[in-house]
Amino acid sequence: MNIRNISKISLIILIITGLSCGAEKPREQQMGYPITAVSFTKVTLTDDFWSGRIETNRTVTIPFGFNKCEEEGRIRNFARAGGLLEGQYEGQMPFDDTDVYKIIEGASYSLTIHPDKELEEYIDETIEKIAAAQEEDGYLCTWKTLNPKTTPATWVKPGPRWHHLAASHELYNAGHMYEAAYAHHRATGKKNFLNIALKNADLIAETFGPGKNMEPPGHQIIETGLIKLYRATNDREYLDLAKFFLDQRGNAVGHKLYGPYNQDHVPVTEQDEAVGHAVRAVYMYAAMTDIAGIMDDSAYLNAVSKIWDNVVSKKYYITGGIGARHDGESFGDNYELPNLTSYNETCAAIGNVYWNHRMFLLHGDAKYIDVLERTLYNGLISGVSLSGDLFFYPNCLESDGKYKFNRGTLTRQPWFDCSCCPSNIIRFIPSVPEYIYARRNDSLYVNLFVAGKADIDMDKTNVEVSQETNYPWDGKVVIKVNPQTSQKFAVRIRIPGWALGKPVPSDLYRYADENIEKVTLKINSDSIDLNMDKGYAVIDRKWSKDDVIELNLPMPIRRVVAHDKVKDDLNKVALVRGPLVYCAEWVDNDGKVLDMVIPDDAELKTEHRKDLFNGVTVIIGDILDKSGEERKLTAIPYYAWSHRGPGEMAVWLPRK
Ligand SMILES: [Zn+2]
Repeated sequence: MNIRNISKISLIILIITGLSCGAEKPREQQMGYPITAVSFTKVTLTDDFWSGRIETNRTVTIPFGFNKCEEEGRIRNFARAGGLLEGQYEGQMPFDDTDVYKIIEGASYSLTIHPDKELEEYIDETIEKIAAAQEEDGYLCTWKTLNPKTTPATWVKPGPRWHHLAASHELYNAGHMYEAAYAHHRATGKKNFLNIALKNADLIAETFGPGKNMEPPGHQIIETGLIKLYRATNDREYLDLAKFFLDQRGNAVGHKLYGPYNQDHVPVTEQDEAVGHAVRAVYMYAAMTDIAGIMDDSAYLNAVSKIWDNVVSKKYYITGGIGARHDGESFGDNYELPNLTSYNETCAAIGNVYWNHRMFLLHGDAKYIDVLERTLYNGLISGVSLSGDLFFYPNCLESDGKYKFNRGTLTRQPWFDCSCCPSNIIRFIPSVPEYIYARRNDSLYVNLFVAGKADIDMDKTNVEVSQETNYPWDGKVVIKVNPQTSQKFAVRIRIPGWALGKPVPSDLYRYADENIEKVTLKINSDSIDLNMDKGYAVIDRKWSKDDVIELNLPMPIRRVVAHDKVKDDLNKVALVRGPLVYCAEWVDNDGKVLDMVIPDDAELKTEHRKDLFNGVTVIIGDILDKSGEERKLTAIPYYAWSHRGPGEMAVWLPRK
């Protein structure tokens, strides 16, 4: 396959989709999925919660990330590999190239919302360096090109191309490049980066396949990357190659199995438990979901559904984090969910959002958005400070102020030797608006509650949907539905599981208290019953200009307890409110929290604190210490901890 053919295909796509001339804009679609997410480019946020984070990502984190890549030689590596500069590979990881790719991905999304000539030029200059580093035949991996006889890390064996693929990260580098190139093309319409990715993918398609090199990558992501190239070009070869790499896992024909750490112990279609390195795993599950959706593959669907059940019912933290163990950055056994030593890599949380969003697009079931929301509002955004320049790699649920959980440190850090998490935050945050709405034929899905508006193309009319809400601090949501012409269609409003008595879609966590306040729904001021289907309140009617839906999700403070088999949470309680998980941190609680007891009858109330963390609702109350003495509690949203120095913190506290 050559670039000329791709141009031809793109032209056909342009004609079919009726796009006007000018820069070639790729199609907005989730090819193969029955449901289509409403692109972040069609959604404008006016809220205080996400807008601020997206703006901080744009103004602080993106420049901070690029500066780090400049300082530490990641950009120079491309220039050197391309012969534009003298010198050797800088860096201790074989995947430093990916940080540059991931930041370009986030910056590209950011450009779509906030045009910025200077940033766009900087990205183009960086892409020129990447192009220079690409070898004649399409190969691109700076450390190998610079000197294959040395290695950036002792755990990677030096050698020629594709040697020691279990650890070389050549295909991992390629996968992140494809993801970034797709995003850049989607955001800017330009093909300068996409063409580099396609040339590389063509080389990989020539090199790998049945009867050729049959080794799978040691770290997954090339699979979803290739599927994105398939989306951009409609070239089936990329899709087939993605499936080939997945099918090679657990298949001893063609390579010596890497084992469960790399999810390479049994064929993916026979896997039913989440094992091994959590980030590798969750990127793979996202790719498997793509294959299930696009290729209508029932074996893949069956496997990925079983794995999802396993994660959500046995390996999922109340904060939405996954990957319990520091050792191998991996999933633990079933119900192995320690708090002090919990790992919960930020990248795994991001991958969990990617995966659950795909599961939703396939099934249209709100339970996947329940999981996505829990991860998003807790264990994912905890990974970046409110200032945008300090990060967690692991996201633990408890700190004693001594155990150095954050890669040898006790609090947030500006960067890491392995900086996958900061660069992953940069690429993820600008895409948040894409998780709010979706559509399918004559159904419009409202998945998340964020103030702002969206422009949605329904089958027969264009609809402007707006939300007014102070979520996650308040559960009142006013949704205005404004179709261009009056039309009949269904608005499907997600009623979160947490508002219906189920904090998670499994028996892993349950409420220990009762809530008598009911979810209510009104349309044009008239109360209506919740007509529930797959977790959505469905309002199927003829919509006219200025129709107003009023949703009220009561948000009392709730007490959550874990399944009895989670021994680390035994006889303990976690406080939650709406989608947010709370924690007690030393600084609000006289210097310590690990002596706290929260009796079931302790009276707790909320207080909105404008002065704290850009405005948060805290939980306060009178509780006990372990000796039975009365003491005060102030609990803050989990994501906001560790902004005020290291010390004790706990999500789970004893009930007695
Ligand atoms: Zn990471």
